[in-house]
Amino acid sequence: MNRVRLLVLNAALGPLDYRVPDDLHVEPGSVVVAPLGPRQVLGIAWESERLPGTEVPDARLRPILDVLPVPPLPAPLRRLIEWTADYYCAAMASVARMSLSSSAALRGGGTITEYRLTGVMPSRLTPQRDAAISALDGEQGTIRELADLAGVSEAVLRGLVNTGVMEPVVVDIDRAYPPADPDHAVPTLSDLQTGAADRFVDAVKARKFAPFLLDGVTGSGKTETYFEAVAEALRMGRQVLVLLPEIALTENFLKRFESRFGVPPVVWHSSQKQSERRRAWRQVAEGGAQVVVGARSALFLPYANLGLIIVDEAHEVSFKQDDGVRYNARDVAVMRGRFEQIPVVLASATPALESLQMAEAGIYEKVDLPSRFGEASLPEIAVVDLREQVPPRGRWLAPPLVAGIEERLERGEQSLLFLNRRGYAPLTLCRNCGFRFQCPNCSAWLVEHRLSKRLACHHCGHEVPSPSQCPECGEADCLTACGPGVERIADEVAQIFPDARTAVVTSDTLSNPEKIAAFVDAAESGAIDVIVGTQLVTKGYHFPELTLVGVVDADLGLEGGDLRAAERSYQQIAQVAGRAGRASKPGEVLIQTRHPDAAVIAALAAGDRDAFYAAETDARRHAGAPPFGRWAAIIVSSEDEAEAREAAQNIGRAAPRLDDLAVFGPAPAPLSLLRGRYRYRLLINARRSAALQQTIREWLDPMEFAPGVRIGVDIDPYSFV
Ligand code: ADP
Ligand code: ZN
Repeated sequence: MNRVRLLVLNAALGPLDYRVPDDLHVEPGSVVVAPLGPRQVLGIAWESERLPGTEVPDARLRPILDVLPVPPLPAPLRRLIEWTADYYCAAMASVARMSLSSSAALRGGGTITEYRLTGVMPSRLTPQRDAAISALDGEQGTIRELADLAGVSEAVLRGLVNTGVMEPVVVDIDRAYPPADPDHAVPTLSDLQTGAADRFVDAVKARKFAPFLLDGVTGSGKTETYFEAVAEALRMGRQVLVLLPEIALTENFLKRFESRFGVPPVVWHSSQKQSERRRAWRQVAEGGAQVVVGARSALFLPYANLGLIIVDEAHEVSFKQDDGVRYNARDVAVMRGRFEQIPVVLASATPALESLQMAEAGIYEKVDLPSRFGEASLPEIAVVDLREQVPPRGRWLAPPLVAGIEERLERGEQSLLFLNRRGYAPLTLCRNCGFRFQCPNCSAWLVEHRLSKRLACHHCGHEVPSPSQCPECGEADCLTACGPGVERIADEVAQIFPDARTAVVTSDTLSNPEKIAAFVDAAESGAIDVIVGTQLVTKGYHFPELTLVGVVDADLGLEGGDLRAAERSYQQIAQVAGRAGRASKPGEVLIQTRHPDAAVIAALAAGDRDAFYAAETDARRHAGAPPFGRWAAIIVSSEDEAEAREAAQNIGRAAPRLDDLAVFGPAPAPLSLLRGRYRYRLLINARRSAALQQTIREWLDPMEFAPGVRIGVDIDPYSFV
């Protein structure tokens, strides 16, 4: 009899065995539907020797119901799913779910009906219809998608269909993408760039695992260089995955890709329309999506024929996922390269210490681009000591920075002010009674957003309209904004330079691809004089007229110092500095700080990256921190504070006593309340030789907890809150 073991897509269940009816063909990786009690579940056929479970006698096996019309998940991806679950102490089902991330795509090919405007105007024009017609000009999509887009109800659109204002169009949901041309617009690389590109191209040709660290200063042409490897993969008919840390960077990338290869790449991210996602998923699985650019979730897609992975801005912390499966896409990308036997390029101007260490150990091959392309030179960096250069009361820009902006305005050049804080002010309090606005669901202050006239929690999204009086004492006109966010800095610029055209750039203002594109166009065409932004503007952008970068508060990143605070501060400031003077005009960077002697600031000012990394490496070595030792965190949470505390204490009492591993805590998490859940943390520091994951599994697996308690394990954590 034909039997099959399934990895069932339900983290609460173990592997289950089924019978395969004669009329169905199942092989490892097949995605199937199986009965489970009265319900149905999705499962993936797996090699039974790799998925231990209890053998069920043949007579008791139930038959699977259906095999879904998608290619079986390839073996390298199955190995990646196993490795990820094992390494990050996650359920295999939760990891596999990230591969089957478009449920629509699993249902097989076919057509769907989309709608578009016909050009006919309705005889009766209501305000809603009017709004819909102007919003949907040039758009095509399902009724639901268009209703979302236009902000009207589906009924309004159905009305427009019935009156002939809109028409149905039948589209093949899985249609192929137009092919990219590797020779569309080949740049002339510098000798340095050619040397780097050749190594990547050779590695693509060799079809073997080869991890690279592309360490090139900002503006050195890292993108142009790895594009040559992309071109080679295209010529060989193999697929390429380019991981970017944020969707906001995609817009810029799309443009550059299209000018190099003639067509845009296939985009993958979580806020896409369902129809775009399913088409992308199927084309990825069938090999028709040649180059996929996406956020970290693109890493687990079932590529048919992957030939190269690029991780751009590889140092970025947003590659680390902090909920669900807590994985680091940079590290998993390297593992995928190994299972697929292909090269992986980690590109950065400020590599993570861990990556540099891997290069030093000879595990990654290091490729350097030490100077900027063409006439551009690296910017001059100077420190503004805020203890001596004091901004006027209630303001944050010190005289040298104001003078710098003024010069740029006179010359028609651009300035960029960087402050990594969204909104207007991080804290609002009542001058009369001292009341502070706090989130009811989190241990965090509410942040004032003047543009949207709201107070918002940046952890859970809780929002209230900005009040005009204190909710505690009832006094009016007594609420004071404390500290600056980017909106407040933009206000300050407007007060000093009323004619300057400023743009606030944060995830609030650039919330979708259209807004990002509009911003890039405005900045490139010189329609913006002063950009005020968060970390969102620190990377990826190339604005030729931008010659001044001001870091408003360089000390901010060092506050609440976690393990990587110094490194992250260094990276952020070096990256934002890298936006200045990228073309023929030289750039200048002014760093405002109260601690000009801090190692980070001194290294930035001296342009001495090696000194910073050397000092940081020493500090890590002494602390037994990564890459010399390893960390893991256990996060315990519950809506009931006592229940969370008790569970955390029980875990602490059951902690293993080993020579190569130390357990700290439990202690209330710095964010002790998050989204209505009370949180406790334990921190584990282990030697590299310790069997960290196995120890954690043997420690936690036998324990039992109240049903409301959630236990999260975070291997190689980036967040300590
Ligand atoms: P990085 O990613 O290292 O910051 P980019 O790849 O963005 O650098 O390159 C910086 C700028 O220089 C871009 O505008 C890019 O188009 C340009 N550039 C780099 N190399 C070349 C080249 N060989 N020929 C033409 N333009 C180049
Ligand atoms: Zn909150």
